[in-house]
Amino acid sequence: MSDCLFCKFVSGEISPQTVYEDDDVLAFRDINPQAPCHVLIIPKKHISTLNDLTEQDAELVGKLYLAAAKVAKQEGIDEAGYRTVMNCNEQAGQTVFHIHLHLLGGRCMNWPPG
Ligand code: AMP
Ligand code: ZN
Repeated sequence: MSDCLFCKFVSGEISPQTVYEDDDVLAFRDINPQAPCHVLIIPKKHISTLNDLTEQDAELVGKLYLAAAKVAKQEGIDEAGYRTVMNCNEQAGQTVFHIHLHLLGGRCMNWPPG
């Protein structure tokens, strides 16, 4: 997807502040952090929204969560706790249409979310 910001991160055309990478997944710091630790975990494969996932993506989604747990440990927020969120479409606040798991931590989280 040539016009997708996060695909440009994956291709190396633009360099994010990467905190973790493997064959399937890239994780980088959010440019507008909503918590002391705010990392986005994305699949290297372009998928626009959660609604576009297929059965073939099941393992990939698992890898996003495994990467989130690794980054949480790396960031030292795993024991205190953290939140993972994936927004889907406009009403949930999705602004970048390449799926991404938000990893938020380093402060107390409110519930219900806004
Ligand atoms: P969402 O609103 O769930 O689609 O999340 C998109 C996230 O991408 C927001 O938290 C933005 O701050 C973040 N974001 C947008 N542009 C960049 C960028 N260039 N580098 C890192 N994060 C970004
Ligand atoms: Zn993309």
